[in-house]
Amino acid sequence: MLLIPCPFCGERAEIEFVAGGEAVTRPENPAVLDDAVFTDYLYNRDNRRGALREQWWHAHGCRRWLVVERDTQSNEILSVRDSESAG
Ligand SMILES: [Zn+2]
Repeated sequence: MLLIPCPFCGERAEIEFVAGGEAVTRPENPAVLDDAVFTDYLYNRDNRRGALREQWWHAHGCRRWLVVERDTQSNEILSVRDSESAG
């Protein structure tokens, strides 16, 4: 079982969370991007093995969105922070 250390609630089981996929940085002004760049932002993800930044929503806890850096091969949690905090 994957345990995620929520910065607000402490260590909690994965079943309390909803996975939001790979964390991507939203373009500052999507209206000026060409279609290929915008399509890449919307649909394409690295899905790589190893350290990956993901979004997780603590639906059955503090209801905050978190950015979790997780090793996708070992499931080790490398870091967790609130999605609205800097960094
Ligand atoms: Zn929480």
